[in-house]
Amino acid sequence: MFNPFSSAPVHDPIGKIKPVDEIKKTTCYMCACRCGIRAHLRDGELVYIDGNPDHPINQGVICAKGSAGIMKQKSPARITEPLLRKKNSPRGSNEFEIISWETAFNLLTERLSKIRATDPKKFALFTGRDQMQALTGLFARQFGTPNYAAHGGFCSVNMAAGMIYTIGGSFWEFGGPDLDHSKLFIMIGTAEDHHSNPMKIALSKFKRSGGRFISINPVRTGYSAIADEWIPIKPGTDGALFMALMHELIAKNKFDAPFLQKYTNSGQLVCLDEGPEEGLFLFDPSSEQINADLPHNKYIWDTNTNSAQPCYAKGVMPSLQGEYIMGPGPHEGKRVAPAFELLRRQVKNTSPDWAAAITGISASRIVKLAEEIGQAAFDQAFTLPIPWTDAWGEKHSSVIGRPVAFHAMRGLSAHSNGFQTVRGLAVLMSLLGTIDRPGGFRHKAPYPRQTPPNVKPPSSDADIKPNTPLGKAPLGWPTQPEDLSLSEDGTPLRIDKAYSWEHPLAAHGLMHNVITNAVKGDPYTIDTLMIFMANMSWNSTMNTTEVRNLLNEKNTDGEYKIPFLVVCDAFQSEMVNFADLVLPDTTYLERHDVMSMLDRPISEFDGPVDSVRIPVLPPTGNCKPFQEVIVELASRLKFPAFTTPEGGRKFSGYTDFITKFQTAPDSGIGFLSGWRGINGEKSLRGEPNQNQWEQYEKNNCIFQFKMPTEHHYMRNWNRGYLDFAKENALRQKNDPIMLSIYSDILQKFRLAAKGQRKGRTPPEHLKKRIIKYFDPLPMWYPPLEEDVTDLNQFPLNAITQRPMAMYHSWDSQNAWLRQIHSHNYLFINTKTAQSHGIEDGAWMLIESQWGKVKCMARHSEAVDPGTVWTWNAIGKAESAWNLDANADESKKGFLLNHLITEELPFGQFRVSNSDPITGQAGWYDVRVKISPADKEEHEETLPQFKAYSVPGMIIKK
Ligand code: SF4
Repeated sequence: MFNPFSSAPVHDPIGKIKPVDEIKKTTCYMCACRCGIRAHLRDGELVYIDGNPDHPINQGVICAKGSAGIMKQKSPARITEPLLRKKNSPRGSNEFEIISWETAFNLLTERLSKIRATDPKKFALFTGRDQMQALTGLFARQFGTPNYAAHGGFCSVNMAAGMIYTIGGSFWEFGGPDLDHSKLFIMIGTAEDHHSNPMKIALSKFKRSGGRFISINPVRTGYSAIADEWIPIKPGTDGALFMALMHELIAKNKFDAPFLQKYTNSGQLVCLDEGPEEGLFLFDPSSEQINADLPHNKYIWDTNTNSAQPCYAKGVMPSLQGEYIMGPGPHEGKRVAPAFELLRRQVKNTSPDWAAAITGISASRIVKLAEEIGQAAFDQAFTLPIPWTDAWGEKHSSVIGRPVAFHAMRGLSAHSNGFQTVRGLAVLMSLLGTIDRPGGFRHKAPYPRQTPPNVKPPSSDADIKPNTPLGKAPLGWPTQPEDLSLSEDGTPLRIDKAYSWEHPLAAHGLMHNVITNAVKGDPYTIDTLMIFMANMSWNSTMNTTEVRNLLNEKNTDGEYKIPFLVVCDAFQSEMVNFADLVLPDTTYLERHDVMSMLDRPISEFDGPVDSVRIPVLPPTGNCKPFQEVIVELASRLKFPAFTTPEGGRKFSGYTDFITKFQTAPDSGIGFLSGWRGINGEKSLRGEPNQNQWEQYEKNNCIFQFKMPTEHHYMRNWNRGYLDFAKENALRQKNDPIMLSIYSDILQKFRLAAKGQRKGRTPPEHLKKRIIKYFDPLPMWYPPLEEDVTDLNQFPLNAITQRPMAMYHSWDSQNAWLRQIHSHNYLFINTKTAQSHGIEDGAWMLIESQWGKVKCMARHSEAVDPGTVWTWNAIGKAESAWNLDANADESKKGFLLNHLITEELPFGQFRVSNSDPITGQAGWYDVRVKISPADKEEHEETLPQFKAYSVPGMIIKK
């Protein structure tokens, strides 16, 4: 009889006759959660995959995607040979010839060496949802090009930047809700299974122990379906809700004043006088700076002495309200106020009534939500008897728990107001004192980091030189206009205009604008664009039809505007068709890989964790892991970090590179932090160990470092943890990380735009934009698209989320997962659909001012009446991914991307359809109208795209 609690597989029909003869452990990559898995093999063939019960991340749990990895392996869309577009064949004609890897490497080495020796920025490398950004970033830096980024700019950079500029950490890999100790959990703007298995495990435990779970989301699916309460909200208005919650909590004195006084910049004095110091903190020249990049020598107003005092002076009691005049000293006579007073003024008018009109949530529900949050944080507070010492030497016998936790992601982030929205959430959590405390938000190593980390992007032409590594990291964290990536004449240094005045804090780049900018030659043209694992001609791009046209656009001399396009992918995605050179990648089951502390590991709250993939199968055909390609190219191009002093190659391949590479000579810091030291006896820091891979393999492919309990909480200010973090290169410094309720970094950009600051100033047409959006305090403003949209004509919001059963476009070809979704519907609230005469299951039209799509409707009660939504990336171009020409994916499935523009009109200019601060793509800002389709018309989604196939695939048509 079937036993649901047995670990025996139920899907191995011949297991009794011929059991599996080998079990290999590795790390799943059917999504980005990094669960441990076991691959069961019979005669060398993969029979099934299950969760690894000894793995701390998923404890044996596996999801539908994870177990369907076997079908990814057997996908007919695999590309198995390197391919070169045939000479004189037009791009997109599917006329490729199979070439050898040697030919591919020679071709690339010759082309890239010429670019590197002349103008390195003519080479651009952009990557999708990979887990090797430390390696690809190193490659770009060694090449000398600033034109590098991964997918963050079109995914969730607002979440990363908004949180990191405020609290020094963020959600997802960097931190999350402590559901073990929480009583109230609020999930807001999160896809239906974001942070999949680990979140599901934590949530089920939380609910079973009586925790209350509120979901705030325009759509009630996935996690929201099991919430105790669903509060629908209008997309792009979450920031207004946070402002109203702060209004209520402050008005009712429900905030953690001692926490704000000691651990945030709430008490620090901001200059109110007009001029170059307006809105900036004042600095005390007689106090120690501690950290030149973000100095600590500020003042507070001490209520004991009624005078300004150095902020860390002993025995002071910082005021959180009022205005003061500085006494004798370097700032005598200046008018100042504590940062918290300015926050109090900022939220004075953001009442629940104000927010109700914006969010669609009633004022009374907002008031009750604020009460519930305050009640959980303060009335249910508790202590854990964990002693710790703070950054100033004070010993504490316990840590305070504030059991209200939040989880948020792309629903907040993918709007052009997302940075300030996320700032709002981070400041709200800080008011409640829930940062790195039991029951609230907890960091995961290598976070917390400085607000922001001390890494700067290239800031002048001098940082980019032929045949020389880039002067700075391609991606960094500006703290002032002088850090922007601008040429002498003020033009952007980067092809995507990241870190320009259009998007000054673009910490993850703007991958979604690369093709458009390169084709327009704005700010300049490039020679070679290399794309890894990103479907930029389909679901990863806005304005899909036009971007596909741009990829084929030519100059008058017949040369393509992007002369050479290299695509590396394991599957025949829509992007592959546009490639000049195709490099076939392996699957995750066929390669070595690291999820490194130098990158985005999957640490636990209690200590650093990194993990690896070990191949369980040999590569299919002539596939080669992209990691190997990068190491090979870097060696052939003789990058300094990959070349011996004698000019030979330093590393034989990827695994050798991972074992031997150190961030600086003899630093002892490498890609993997487990089993370092000659014999693997050291952790985190130590000499390279030749047997490191074997030791990971023996230990479930994961290394987990458990910190002492006294380092588990309050890590922004925990002396022991801060010293540990510095010793092990998790941070450069060991100074306390004060939470930035008020951001003087944003104010510096505003002063530059107002002409009140010496140094770089924005171009005339962007000045008002900077002044408006670079508010040093959280704020809410409507998404930019609303400024250029007739809201009466396009009354509905349209959003997407990725489905639980598929990770973006990766699984469209997966035979098992296609049985769950082979096409998508537009979900519409039943009343909204009926009022537009659209029947359940009928064909309909959805239209924005930028485009029109024909799709099928599904009535739903689980969506806010003013919002329509669908799953992203299920719709496909005809025959793409080697699906049948009549497959549901291309005939019934659709992409909402056709309705979304990649640029918005801005006076006589055009700007990216992105957040004006970070460049985060404004995916969820689009406004639409809906109508029934003509019943006489052929029942097929529109627009349609012509069929394609490429040679070198497993199954040829
Ligand atoms: S949650 Fe993601 S990583 Fe974990 S088993 Fe599922 S697909 Fe794999």
